[in-house]
Amino acid sequence: MNVHDSDRMRRMIQDAGYAEVQRYEDADLVILNTCYVRENAVDRVKGHLGELNRLRREGRVKKVALTGCIGAAEESAALRQTYDIDLVLGTHNTYELAEFVGLPTMRETYTPELPGTEGGHSAFVTIMTGCNYQCSYCIVPTVRGRMICRPMGSVIGEIENLVAGGTGYVTLLGQTVDAWRHEGKRFCDLLEAVSECAPRVWFTTSHPSNMEDRTLRAIGERDTIVKRLHLPVQSGSDRMLKVMHRGYKAERYRRKIEVFREAAPDGTLSTDIIVGHPGETEDDHEQTLRLVEECAFDSAYIFKFSPRRGTEAASQPGIVPDGVVQRRFLEVLRQVEQNAFRRNQRKVGGEEEIYIRHGSTEDGKAIGETWSGHAVHVNTDAAPGDYVKARIESAGPHVLYAGEPGTPV
Ligand code: SAM
Ligand code: SF4
Repeated sequence: MNVHDSDRMRRMIQDAGYAEVQRYEDADLVILNTCYVRENAVDRVKGHLGELNRLRREGRVKKVALTGCIGAAEESAALRQTYDIDLVLGTHNTYELAEFVGLPTMRETYTPELPGTEGGHSAFVTIMTGCNYQCSYCIVPTVRGRMICRPMGSVIGEIENLVAGGTGYVTLLGQTVDAWRHEGKRFCDLLEAVSECAPRVWFTTSHPSNMEDRTLRAIGERDTIVKRLHLPVQSGSDRMLKVMHRGYKAERYRRKIEVFREAAPDGTLSTDIIVGHPGETEDDHEQTLRLVEECAFDSAYIFKFSPRRGTEAASQPGIVPDGVVQRRFLEVLRQVEQNAFRRNQRKVGGEEEIYIRHGSTEDGKAIGETWSGHAVHVNTDAAPGDYVKARIESAGPHVLYAGEPGTPV
């Protein structure tokens, strides 16, 4: 989502005549688009702000803007003062950047005329912003606000424009995309409509409480939908899921995964897990390990709990010592990687149609994606957006390797 927001801002300032440069010293304006989900993101931003402050005092950078979730947080007022920032914008008013760089004022953060892109062949499309949940640990509802769903016509209109302009891969974006609803329509209706007008579709992120079996079956049935599901579980312990206010039990999550595996047996499944949330016991952790083993995730983002000021969990008792958090982190990671490695091995020997996401690097390897959602390194000169066919020769826990040069499809 941040990459998408950055794309929009990049387009906006390019329209005002700016060009992108690689070094701070070459910039008239530096925009730091930020994340606030965990404290280490804030630490990194402070490091950049310190450096920018120094460069500005030396006259080597003119203006600095802070945007994104830190910009929407209370903490931004203190940062503005400490680092003498010229412009601070939150997540709902990034359009004000237009005015700052001398463009006519815009009224919306997402405007169909300003499609954010990963490079033209592939595009992100925001279908909803904000979040109506109140997970104990999460700052997102505070900085991104409550859920706002974009009308279906506006989403489809943007996608039709993108496809007409050559986009071959559309990713629907939102904090809880599957909670999307508008005028009696639900997420699955939107997904089905999108799958009829885009050649390749994926969506992220979903919430288990909103995920309908109908959607899971549509993933399996519809040729244009990538068979890859990202469904954050956070914990395998019902006790912790309740403390976190996730709104589902582990058993319900397992049932969803069964439906997905049945609908798309070859598909990939990923999740988010938090280790060391206040109050997490050894027994809770064991239950997470068990769930990870049973669901056999193809990958997972594992996060060490980071207290966010203003969230419920930040003041909860039962802080888990750092050493314990680190051990639990490694145990979950090992479990995920073992499963992923085993599942990836099953792909070896098969021929795959691969969508090229990023062109080849110096060693001739392009990065692509199969219809099952596996990441593949493949020897090919094909351009991003092209499809090639190649045989999978080996596999690691994170990626498949196609040895022979792919044939253009
Ligand atoms: N909306 C998504 C959902 O419901 O799962 C996730 C959004 S959040 C930006 C991405 C992930 O960051 C979460 O799934 C969670 O695992 C992690 N996360 C959020 N707050 C966190 C915190 N305070 N400490 C550690 N990880 C956190
Ligand atoms: Fe944060 Fe996701 Fe929970 Fe919303 S549903 S509060 S974004 S973790």
